[in-house]
Amino acid sequence: MTAKIIDGKLLATKVKAQVSIAVSELNKKNIFPGLATIIVGNDAASSIYVKNKGKSAKEVGIESFQYELPENVLEKDLLELINKLNLNNAVDGILVQLPLPIHINSNQVIDSIDPSKDVDGFNVLNAGKTFIGRDSVIPCTPLGCLLMLRSINIELRGKNAVIIGRSNIVGKPMAQLLLNEDCTVTIVHSKTNNINKIVKKADIIIAAVGIANLVKESWVKKGAIVIDVGINRIQVEDKNKLVGDINFDEVKDIASYVTPVPGGVGPMTIACLLMNTVFQSAKRNSISIPDNLKKLF
Ligand code: NAD
Repeated sequence: MTAKIIDGKLLATKVKAQVSIAVSELNKKNIFPGLATIIVGNDAASSIYVKNKGKSAKEVGIESFQYELPENVLEKDLLELINKLNLNNAVDGILVQLPLPIHINSNQVIDSIDPSKDVDGFNVLNAGKTFIGRDSVIPCTPLGCLLMLRSINIELRGKNAVIIGRSNIVGKPMAQLLLNEDCTVTIVHSKTNNINKIVKKADIIIAAVGIANLVKESWVKKGAIVIDVGINRIQVEDKNKLVGDINFDEVKDIASYVTPVPGGVGPMTIACLLMNTVFQSAKRNSISIPDNLKKLF
C-alpha cells in the first residue's frame, strides 16, 4: 500500500472538539444552539444516520430535537411541523433527512425551511449564494471533503479535480467549492463518455455516485488524491459490508491519499452539520462566528 489514509473519524473528532468549545463560548453569552432533525418513515440506514446526528449534537452541547414521522405522513403535516420549528427560537437548525417518500414534494419541503435555519445548505437561497461564492451555508458533505483535503496541507490551486456525480447535495456544490480553491474542475456523470479516461487525468478525484467499487486502479493517475463519498451496502460471504464508490483495495496502491469507507467522509459530514448549526446560531443572534471555528477555514 502506498497511499496515506485521510482519517475522517479522527479529523471529525477534532472538528467536534472545536464545535464543543464554540458552543461553550456561545452558552456564556446565553445562547444555546439547537438542532431539530426530522425523519419520515423507517428506512433502517436513514434512521441510523439521524440518530447519530442527534447523538453527536448532544455530545458537543447542542440541544437536539428529534422528530420521527410515519411513512404515510401528509405533506401538509410535515410542512406544519417545519413552520412551527421555523418559529421556535430554541431551534437554530432544521434538518429533514432525505430521501422523502414519493408522495411528498421534497423541493417544497426544503424550500419551507427558513434559510437562516437551513443547516444543509440545500435551500435555494443558500445554494444560490454558494454558487456565486457569497457567504452561505455550505452543504455538509462537500464541506467535509474540503476540510479533509485541507487537512493534508497540499496546494489546491491549479489542481485538476474530477468530481464523479452531479447531485445537488454533493457533486454540484463540491465543484463550486473546488472552483473557489482555484482548481480546474470537471464533473462527470452517468451519461459521460470515456469516464475512466477523464478521471485518469485528475490530481483530485471526488467520487459521489452510489455504485460500489466503481473506480478501479486503472482509472486513477499515480499519486492522485482520492476522496470517496459513496456509501454502498454489499454482501460478502453472506455478510453485509459497507463500501464506497472507490475500489479501495486497488486504489490504495496507486493514490497518494485516499479516504476509507467507513470512517472517511461520513463522520466529517456529521461534524460539519454541527458546525453549520453553530454558524446559524451565531448569525441568528447577530454575533460573529466563534474564532476557533473560523480558524478551521
Ligand atoms: P445521487 O443518486 O443523487 O447522484 C448520483 C450521481 O452519480 C448522479 O449525478 C449520476 O449522474 C451519477 N452517476 C450514476 N451512475 C453513474 C456512473 N455509472 N458513472 C458516473 N456517474 C454516475 O447520489 P448522491 O446523493 O450524490 O450520493 C452519492 C453517494 O454518496 C451515495 O452512495 C450516497 O449514499 C453517498 N453519500 C454519502 C454521504 C456521506 O456523508 N458520506 C453524504 C451524501 C451522500
